[in-house]
This record gives sequence, C-alpha cells and structure tokens, in this order.
Amino acid sequence: MSKLDQSAVIDALKSVLPSPDARAALHEPQFSGNEWAYVKDCIDTGWVSSVGKFVDRFEQDLAAYTGTRHAIAVVNGTAALHVCLLLVGVEAGDEVLMPALTFIATANAISYCDAVPHFVDSDMATLGLDPHKLERHLESIAEMRGDACYNKQTGRRIKAAVPMHTFGHPVDLDALVEICRRYRIELIEDAAESLGSSYKGRHTGNWGRVSALSFNGNKVVTTGGGGAILTNDSELAKLAKHLTTTAKVPHKWSFAHDRVGFNYRLPNINSALGCAQLEQLPGFVESKRALAKAYAAVFENIAGVRFFSEPSFARSNYWLNVLLLDPENAMERDTLLDLSNGLGIMTRPTWTLMHRLPMFKECPRMPSLEIAEDIERRLINIPSSASLGAGR
Ligand SMILES: *Cc1c(COP(=O)(O)O)cnc(C)c1O
Repeated sequence: MSKLDQSAVIDALKSVLPSPDARAALHEPQFSGNEWAYVKDCIDTGWVSSVGKFVDRFEQDLAAYTGTRHAIAVVNGTAALHVCLLLVGVEAGDEVLMPALTFIATANAISYCDAVPHFVDSDMATLGLDPHKLERHLESIAEMRGDACYNKQTGRRIKAAVPMHTFGHPVDLDALVEICRRYRIELIEDAAESLGSSYKGRHTGNWGRVSALSFNGNKVVTTGGGGAILTNDSELAKLAKHLTTTAKVPHKWSFAHDRVGFNYRLPNINSALGCAQLEQLPGFVESKRALAKAYAAVFENIAGVRFFSEPSFARSNYWLNVLLLDPENAMERDTLLDLSNGLGIMTRPTWTLMHRLPMFKECPRMPSLEIAEDIERRLINIPSSASLGAGR
C-alpha cells in the first residue's frame, strides 16, 4: 500500500513540459513537413475531391509503411471498421466479439451491420482484449455447427472478433490468431491507435484478414478526418475499393453501380495532408517513445501510481501515455484530473465501458469484465504529443 502524492504526480507531468507554467493538450497534431506544399498543389490543380494522385500515393505509402500488400483510404476510422466487418461477411444477426474497453467506433460499426457486439474482458499486461479469458469463455458458450461458431446461449453466429491495440500497445496477436482459427472466427484488427506499433517485429494490421486505421485529428498522424483499410488479400482489397467508392462499375462515361455501396472515399486534399504526415511518422514515433521513456523515468520514484510500459513482445507508438493509479488510490482519480486540467495540463479518464452505455447494455458479454472495470477506475491518459518528446 502506498499513498498517492498528488503534487509529486503534477510535478512529474510538468517535468516534460517546455516550461513549468506551460499548458499541454492530450495530443496535438504537428504539421512541420510538406503539408502546405501538398495541399496547395491540390488547390492549384483543382484536384481536391474524390480522385487524385495523393489518394493513390497515400495508399501506396501506407501499405509500404505497414508492410501490408494493400491499403484503401476512407473517410474515417469508423467507416473503415464498418467496411472491414462487411468484407469478412458479418451479416445481420451475427455476434462480433470486441473489448468492453475501447472507443465506441467498433460497437457502432458492428451496429451499422445490424450485428450485435459481444463484450470481452481486458488483459492488464496489454490493456487490450485478453485472449486466454476469451478462450475460456468460448469453451463455455461456443458450439461449432459445420464451419461456423455459434453462441449456445443466444443462438447467434459468432462471425468475427475485433481486438483493439489500446493507446498504441499491441494485443497478444499470436494467441488471438490461434483461437480465431480454431473457432472459425474472422479476425479484424482495430489498429486505429497503433500506426507505428509492431508486434514481434511486424507492424500491427498484418494479423487480421483486414484491419482498420484512423487519421482523426488526435491520432499519431492526421488527415483532418480519415481512415484506411489494410489487407494482404488482393480480392478483399478490390472489393474494399469498390464498396467504398459507391460500387461504381469502372467505365469511361457510363454511370452504373452493381450493388449498394458507400461514399466512403478519402478526398485528395485530405490524402495530401496524409502523404506529408506519413513522411514524418518515423520521427513522430521516435519522439513519442522518447517522451514515454522520460515519463517512465520520472514516475519510477513516485509512490501510488505507475507509468504503463509496452508489453514485452511489442514496440509501441505510445499514442496516448497511460498512468495507472494503485488500486487503493483509485478514488483519487477525479481529484487528480481536476487538479491537472485546472493547471492546463490535459488529462482524462478512459472511455466509459461499452456495456454501461444505454444502447449496448443488453448486449451479450463475458460474465466478468473485472479487469476492464479495474482499468476504467484507475487509468489516466496524460499529455502525449510528439512535440513533447522531440529532441530528447
Ligand atoms: C479513433 C478510433 C477509431 C476511429 O475513429 P474515427 O474518428 O472514426 O476515425 C476507431 N477505434 C478506435 C479504438 C479509435 O481510437
């Protein structure tokens, strides 16, 4: 048991700022490269909208950086998740496994398919979905009918699982891949927070059949708003492009569509921003890792709280840095949030767990979500902009 020294925590947060009275956002975008030049090129040439050279280049650069064969740029990460679910064959009435501790985008995207989220507990070592708990849960509720996995309790098919790499820290993918293979469950990685993070030496987004990225304003790189689908499957990549571009049949002048598609394509002007941001991504990740190292050092000697470090199998982008209060100090979380935000140092608790939200509270879930609930009580995100780590 160690008592929390709140002023020591505040001093530690201040120690990474450029000056003692500086303010700090949670995650600020940084435009220090070719952003102006590329966006100006779009405006000068008139190619601002749905097609253009930057869309193609952004997709190629994303695939090259992540080591996936294909990347399809879309309007945002939620749209990427929606299409990922459709690509692997999620249908109305299916169940989709996902962590209770995540951003709402996943549960929303599942709902857009008229499918049902099924909430899984988290692992304290990764903050992501716990594969071993999932395995035991499936042992008790799952039943194979032919090639498909069914939930004996609800009678619904369990079609897919969508783990998320929480705050940039990869989940234990090997274990998940094996469980999903055994139960014939399609694996989709929500890699919205983990661009720049790798698992056992390979970039996240390579383990699922398809994966989703986000380039929202607070992510590691931003296109204003944006997202992408990653896959190593050429057929799925083609289908992803088709579905996200209104399912238009390619033709010089005829306008025909062969199914209900989506207008989810990322405009050229946003892709231009993305190309410039990707050029700086390796530097951003280095800066963010240097910031995490600095935090780890200052928090090492502060009682009652610990800085969360990447799992041993991962190299993380440290998208949002994490403090975990010791269990006995959890009730001090809100005073600490008040104190830091009052000083202009932005901190926040994690997302309210999905099963507490009114639209998802009747959804199936594991009997115990105790680790997710424990993390929810104790976690604080702290300032994480790449600029705070630059030059360390
Ligand atoms: C940011 C994010 C998304 C996608 O969000 P958009 O704002 O739609 O781009 C999805 N999942 C998680 C976990 C995220 O953090």
